[in-house]
Amino acid sequence: MTLSNGRPYLAIPGPSVMPDSVLRAMMRPAPNIYEGELHNLANGLVPDLKYVAGTEHFVAIYIGNGHAVWEAALCNVASRGDKVLVPVNGRFGHGWADMAQGLHLDVEMLEHGMEAAVDPARIEAALRADTEHKIRAVTLCHVDTSTGIRNDVPAIRRAMDASGHPALLMVDCIASLGCDEMKMDEWGVDVIVAASQKGLMTPPGLGFVWFNDKADAARNTADLASRYWDWRPRATPDFFHQYWGGTAPTHHLYALRAALDLIRAEGLDHIWARHSQLAKMIWTAIETWGQKGEMRLNMADAAHRSHAVTSVHLGHNDADRLRHWCEHEAGVTLGIGLGRTPDSAWFRIGHMGHINAHMVLGVIATIDAGLKALQIPHGDGAVEAATRLLSA
Ligand SMILES: *Cc1c(COP(=O)(O)O)cnc(C)c1O
Repeated sequence: MTLSNGRPYLAIPGPSVMPDSVLRAMMRPAPNIYEGELHNLANGLVPDLKYVAGTEHFVAIYIGNGHAVWEAALCNVASRGDKVLVPVNGRFGHGWADMAQGLHLDVEMLEHGMEAAVDPARIEAALRADTEHKIRAVTLCHVDTSTGIRNDVPAIRRAMDASGHPALLMVDCIASLGCDEMKMDEWGVDVIVAASQKGLMTPPGLGFVWFNDKADAARNTADLASRYWDWRPRATPDFFHQYWGGTAPTHHLYALRAALDLIRAEGLDHIWARHSQLAKMIWTAIETWGQKGEMRLNMADAAHRSHAVTSVHLGHNDADRLRHWCEHEAGVTLGIGLGRTPDSAWFRIGHMGHINAHMVLGVIATIDAGLKALQIPHGDGAVEAATRLLSA
């Protein structure tokens, strides 16, 4: 007998839970891609995508995942042999650096380990040391999804300005967009990349690059900008097919429309507040469990924790045992540990996008039951502590 039948909760950090309206939007025959309804729908996505990123500048849409837009963004601002500065605090920072290396860029990595936020002073020092201005861009993960660390983008912008260096600030918001506050123009971010399957609640398969005029000027000399990855025709198309570099991703567009409708209806301020409050319930539960045994939050400093994904340490193999128990006994799938050895000593909880209080309480109560069933030492009262935050 299992109690896992019923609607599952995929509590991994992407793909995230898809709203019913998003799923329903895709249940239709293929539309005409040459004229009509789909063209109007696509044109209407653009202002809403800019709203989500907080920019009045440009957005290019790619048929691809996050890895695709990592590459796309770099191609449009850099030439072979250019340098990029990559502050890293997790697996995804390394991933973007690796993508840059694959493009024959010269990567200077600022390694921060797995438990510390990116230090703006180190970025400033590295930029000051680059007196010949060989560094084209600083590429930063807003949230590194492996460690759950959220980096302070405005502070990093200020450090870059203080250095007087002209490098672009390029931010990976794949895990954070639509969950954590992001204001591209106000914060002076030059390029943002994101993908459809996390805070944007749409199936994996669309990637986005937002860029401002300064980044677009870099495109003039970027010799890596190939036909397919060139952001210009996608961001300023003369005709519909230029948006996509070929056939439109038809059903993804209907899904994205439905997701953006939900985001518009709730409003970003409310969405950010909801994620913040739900994240606090999860942190409180973990701190309570951690009063006994080995469980602890990866990021000690709450000001630098993601509101969309939480990385949790547990005793060796206990994380895997707990994940399996929650999935098979209760229908909650937790995320694997990523980027650390041994991976089996931690796990992640995805709490991004279409989630609410009863789902988060369900995850917390399920983990609580799993810890008890598996006799993993833990502090008592986590569900009660999280519930108190909800009712406060
Ligand atoms: C998920 C994620 C990626 C990778 O996206 P894919 O769609 O799997 O290619 C990159 N960066 C961050 C911060 C992510 O959360």
